[in-house]
Amino acid sequence: MTENVVIIGSGPAAHTAAIYAARANLNPVLFEGFMAGGIAAGGQLTTTTDVENFPGFPEGISGPELCERFRAQSARFGTRIFTETINKVDLSRRPFRYSSDEQEGEAKTLIIATGATAKRDDIPGTRDNELWQKGVSACAVCDGALPMFRNKPMFVVGGGDSAMEEAGFLTKFASKVYLVHRRDELRASQIMQQRAKANPKIEFLLSHKVTNVGGGNGVEVVSVQDLKTNATRDIPAAGLFFAIGHIPNTKFLDGQLSCDEQGYVLTTPGTTATSVEGVFAAGDVQDKKYRQAITAAGSGCAAALEAEHFLSAH
Ligand code: FAD
Ligand code: NDP
Repeated sequence: MTENVVIIGSGPAAHTAAIYAARANLNPVLFEGFMAGGIAAGGQLTTTTDVENFPGFPEGISGPELCERFRAQSARFGTRIFTETINKVDLSRRPFRYSSDEQEGEAKTLIIATGATAKRDDIPGTRDNELWQKGVSACAVCDGALPMFRNKPMFVVGGGDSAMEEAGFLTKFASKVYLVHRRDELRASQIMQQRAKANPKIEFLLSHKVTNVGGGNGVEVVSVQDLKTNATRDIPAAGLFFAIGHIPNTKFLDGQLSCDEQGYVLTTPGTTATSVEGVFAAGDVQDKKYRQAITAAGSGCAAALEAEHFLSAH
């Protein structure tokens, strides 16, 4: 049987696409992955505590519970969900072919919503069973406004545009932000650098690295090392944010869709159309700018509507 719509992924983009496709009677199939990209089915939100910026939840909602609700809503309208990772696709002709370890099949349209995985450095104190999500995070926009960080010093690690942006954002809440970068030179664009350097609350620790993050129920102290002198010091702080890049989950595409140099799927601006007709991409896998649950959900909706139009036209 050739499916109308096969959705690969399991975050807000994938499930929003599924809800729209199912309600349009397209009988979608969704592959939610099995620890694909190192993350549980449900996507990046399964790795966080409270989500306070997704509309409809004025009291906030835990990340895993929000993921469960997305999934339940997809299932309610008849989406068939498989806890399998798609490891191969053939986009050379329609219908497209796809396979997981357990099955293979054909699809008239594909929606790629496999997300991205935020990179984290393996620094003592920041691991899952340590202070990760207890003051250590990889998303300032998501977690920066939490009361635990108010008027306290915070750290950002990274030297790219994300690090500049996150450091600037955190100065709204923090008493001070230390920006730690491993080299003397920043990677960020000039304009972003200038903005960060003009911010009196940001102190740059160039050619430095974080060697340890300490604390009990939250971050209390960050140890840094000057890579030129090897001198180390401990700085009191309430939080540390990694901004060292993301890895889009696009390896399984094996170069069959046009991607940028970092592996993000390229879509036609204002649409979710990819370089292959009938294949659509939604969420963080094609968005390195906003990277939010609500923007992922919005593009998932667009992908389903565009898949529906494509099927009607063909
Ligand atoms: P993702 O959530 O990235 O999920 C995609 C998932 O698809 C993968 O994780 C994997 O499970 C699955 N998958 C991958 N490859 C395959 C494959 N080959 N086959 C099958 N399945 C596959 N955003 C907010 O709006 N508010 C917040 O408070 C917030 N907090 C965050 C906290 C943290 C720690 C992080 C890391 C992110 C946070 N974000 C937050 C960002 C938000 O989680 C992402 O923008 C959003 O989840 C992206 O959704 P997505 O649908 O693109 O896919
Ligand atoms: P980048 O890959 O550009 O930068 C990552 C930074 O993290 C680099 O400075 C890198 O160091 C550092 N880094 C990587 N790994 C480690 C590690 N293990 N330990 C310590 N430091 C590490 O990622 P970004 O997320 O900043 O940006 C991604 C893309 O998104 C870029 O194209 C950027 O321009 C764009 N963007 C644009 C924005 C805007 O215009 N408003 C905002 C945010 C992102 P090194 O430099 O030494 O390699």
